[in-house]
Parts: sequence; C-alpha cells; structure tokens
Amino acid sequence: MTSRILIIEDDPDIRRLVATGLEEIGHEVELVSSISGFEAAIADKSFDLCMVDLGLPDGNGLQLVEDLRRRDGCGIIILSGRSAEIDRIVGLEVGADDYITKPFRIREMVARVRAVLRRVNEAKRGRALSSGEADETAEQAEIAFDGYRLKPASRRLFAPDDREVHLTTAEFNLFLALVKRRGRVLSRDELMNAVKGRDWESYDRAIDGLVSRLRRKVPPPEGREHYIRTVHGVGYTFSA
Ligand code: CA
Repeated sequence: MTSRILIIEDDPDIRRLVATGLEEIGHEVELVSSISGFEAAIADKSFDLCMVDLGLPDGNGLQLVEDLRRRDGCGIIILSGRSAEIDRIVGLEVGADDYITKPFRIREMVARVRAVLRRVNEAKRGRALSSGEADETAEQAEIAFDGYRLKPASRRLFAPDDREVHLTTAEFNLFLALVKRRGRVLSRDELMNAVKGRDWESYDRAIDGLVSRLRRKVPPPEGREHYIRTVHGVGYTFSA
C-alpha cells in the first residue's frame, strides 16, 4: 500500500538517500529542508509519516515533532546525528514513533519505516471501527458528487478534472463527515467529534477555519452556491 511520506532534512545527500530508499518500495515522497517548508507542506496535504531531522536551519526539529504529534495522527520518525541516549529518550517522549541515528543503513531505515506505517494504519483502522465508520465506508469505495470523487478508504479526493485535491487530516475528516450526512445539518460540536486527534484552542473558530479552507479547495461550478452551506446559529450542511 502506497503511503505519503514527508521528509524534513537539510542535508541534501541524506534527503536524497532516504527518498530513493522509500520510493523504491512504492511510497510517495515529498522533501523539505526547513521548518518553514514543513509548515507549508502540511498546510496543504496530509501525510502518513513524517521523517524529521533535529538540526534544521530555522529551528529545532524536536519542537516540530511535539507540535505535529498534538495535531496529527501521522507516524513520526526522528532522523538525527545525535546519538546520545538522552536525545533519543526526549525524542520519543515528545511523541516520535521511532528514532534513527545517522549514519544508518538504508535497509534498516526501510524496515523501521515499514514497522511505523503498519502501526499507523492499524491505529487508523481502529479509529474508524470505534466511530462506526468502518462498515459504511468499506462498502462505499467511492462517493461521487457533481464530478468530484471522494475515496474514504484511501482518504483521497479528486476534482472533476481528475486532479487530486490535497486535504489535511482534519480537513478530510470534516469533509467526509459532512458528505456522508449530506442534507443533514451538523452542529460544530458534531463536526468536532468527526475531527479527532487535534488539540483545539477554540472549537468553533477551528471548524469555521477548516470549512473556509475546504470551500476554497472544493469549489462548485461558477455561479453556484457552495456544497457546504452555513446554517446560522447551528453549523453546516452539505448538499450536491
Ligand atoms: Ca541537519
């Protein structure tokens, strides 16, 4: 199964080496070299796994790992030249799934990536089961509306022109919740329950922000009202 992997590493040789190793086993890889590059990448897409170097030109990767763990259920592997035991412990404590010390052998790195992805995918399936979504989505391989195609199992969305619309984990969960209950009005609280794994400062504002990003990413044909409509004082509803 293809996974989307983001590599944050400022050393071009290591970046290339890791990317090649992971592409060879069939994964989609994206490369960034700084914390700002990472922020730009995850604002737009969701990843199954992030591989994070600690010494980055614009800051410390540990902070990045801590923030990422708080808002996303993706796998996290730290790639670091620091082999001290204390760094390893701190790295795992802030939420990394594994810690690989440089230099490393490609074969070992690939084996560890596989292990983390297996755990991430199992956790995802577990969450889907516990929220009662599994049965419904298993039989619903694809939900189509107005030329758009939403694939719950692979968590992907395609526009009418077949271009993939990249959604973050939170955006996807919110969108899926709306689409599956099309025609029904969902309160911000109900939508909050659909968007898990995030530490929200302000629920309502967060939902409003996600909805406005989704409206931009999933536009209706020109002149038509948007699929996601605001129901004042209550929440949102989807119709297509
Ligand atoms: Ca570095």
